[in-house]
Amino acid sequence: MSEKRKGDRFPKDADPHAEITTIASDLSITQTTAPVNPLRRIREESGVAPAAIIAIVQRRHPKYDKTLQSKCERTELYGVQLAEDSMKDLRRELTPEEEKKAAWVRQGRHRLTASVSCRLSDEECERFREIARQSGNTMQAYLSTMIRDHLYEHELRDPAKASALQAKYCKTNDLPHFAPSGGRCYRCHQQIYENLKTAEGYISHGISVWEAGHRLVTGCPHCHYSFVE
Ligand SMILES: [Zn+2]
Repeated sequence: MSEKRKGDRFPKDADPHAEITTIASDLSITQTTAPVNPLRRIREESGVAPAAIIAIVQRRHPKYDKTLQSKCERTELYGVQLAEDSMKDLRRELTPEEEKKAAWVRQGRHRLTASVSCRLSDEECERFREIARQSGNTMQAYLSTMIRDHLYEHELRDPAKASALQAKYCKTNDLPHFAPSGGRCYRCHQQIYENLKTAEGYISHGISVWEAGHRLVTGCPHCHYSFVE
């Protein structure tokens, strides 16, 4: 992988032979499960009855009815979806919080200027794009989530180094050192700078060396006990 910095936006997925590029992060919390029909999501998230949705759509499209609503919620089967003008009305009126969040992400995205890229064969690129498409996310959201997960999983953990770096960070920034000096949580007694395998077989990720050197540690990553109080 090569690294570079770009001032412009992430290019749209127009050219299948273009290199895969991603801006380092955005502010959205993305999901990587199967795509959810956007109309159904609005209905479920807002909790309103289908009749209320139909009434809003009928302002612009008077013949819209229950059957069409049902079909538009199953685009994969019927090949029809609600016109964008009405989708906008619904988003604005029924999920204003979601709309605000989306606008916030849109505005924030152009401020993320760092990116990584790599070259792939046409075939690999096409196959990868297909996986990203199936997730229902944009390439930007898909890759940035993947990279963040990767960081979380692979960043170096080392209690001795991390502990020393956290002490240095606090001193340099004139902050109180909340973390236990040896890295053992006061409550659960686990090592906060080390990964932990839970009884259920999950990995609870400890604080990485990088994080310890760049952020104030205020709580236990395993039992979530706050060191501040
Ligand atoms: Zn703990």
